[in-house]
Amino acid sequence: MNKKKDEKVIKKYLLRKYSREISVEHLKSPNFDFWSHSDPWVLLNLVEKMFVYYKLVTFCGLDSKTFKEFLGEVYRNYNWNPYHNFNHAFCVTQMMFAIISKVDWFTTKEVFVLLISAFCHDLDHPGTNNKFQIAANTPLFKEQGGISILEKHHTCLTKRLLEKQMQLLKNFQAKEKKEILCEIELLILATDMAFHMEYYKSLKEIVGSFDRKNKEHRRKLRTALIKACDISNEARPFPVSNQWADCLLTEFFMQGDQESHLGLPVTPCMDRHAVDKGISQAQFIEQFTLPLFETLNQVLPLAPFVTNIKRNLQLYRELKEEI
Ligand code: 5GP
Ligand code: MN
Repeated sequence: MNKKKDEKVIKKYLLRKYSREISVEHLKSPNFDFWSHSDPWVLLNLVEKMFVYYKLVTFCGLDSKTFKEFLGEVYRNYNWNPYHNFNHAFCVTQMMFAIISKVDWFTTKEVFVLLISAFCHDLDHPGTNNKFQIAANTPLFKEQGGISILEKHHTCLTKRLLEKQMQLLKNFQAKEKKEILCEIELLILATDMAFHMEYYKSLKEIVGSFDRKNKEHRRKLRTALIKACDISNEARPFPVSNQWADCLLTEFFMQGDQESHLGLPVTPCMDRHAVDKGISQAQFIEQFTLPLFETLNQVLPLAPFVTNIKRNLQLYRELKEEI
């Protein structure tokens, strides 16, 4: 998709009324059939639907036009990488919506922070990971330093969009605005998988005695939620998740090719001559997706999500055995 096409999508979104009825109930399910709704124009309308459902445009004291323009600007700031693109941002946001809609005790401010963070968390992703930025000495590495390079970049862009460019938070008082931005930063930075075990352990510590009145517990839960949504493709039905696994491997292999081209060591999980999809997905699910969702399931009712993950794991294990 080129920039000209992107502008057409945004124009269509801003000017045309969207009349196709996709009910909010569909968006509340991990079984939402993403690939049959993957036209970006439709997706922008669906994101708006999720924000409107939680009255978040009103929460910001904005008119619908300003909010739509913000969503369009987010779209514009994603690159069409095979995996880290606007579709991924949509899926993470929809999964967040599906999860938080299972209970009624998230505050409007929390929902706003969670949905905005999910939607913006990979802005301007270059299609290569943090290790690559360092190894290839990229401009992003020079700009952001050595830790969580990409996540810092996504956070900077999100803050710039919210604060300056689109002024989405202009109606909040300075203190509340600062608090919201700080929470969003915390969540986007938490998506760096290099610190997964720390976040996972700190969730484990609280789930047994989770107290909704405890601010720290709620913050740890929010952090775990964005992480779970970020790695939630395997919580979807196999026909949906399997295509996402292909997108991820396409992007990984492109990085592997670049590494090889630059004379750098090829990252093992990105080596197109060595990786087996069934094995790598089964490992990822066992190590990350399933434990995180099972732990969250102790606080939120996520049984259907866990069922999907277990079914996919079984399918990938069977694939593994067939070799
Ligand atoms: P993100 O870069 O999307 O913010 O962080 C999530 C990271 O987790 C991805 O870059 C990718 O490395 C990893 N990841 C997420 N889902 C999967 C998956 O289904 N399989 C594998 N192998 N890795 C995944
Ligand atoms: Mn992501």
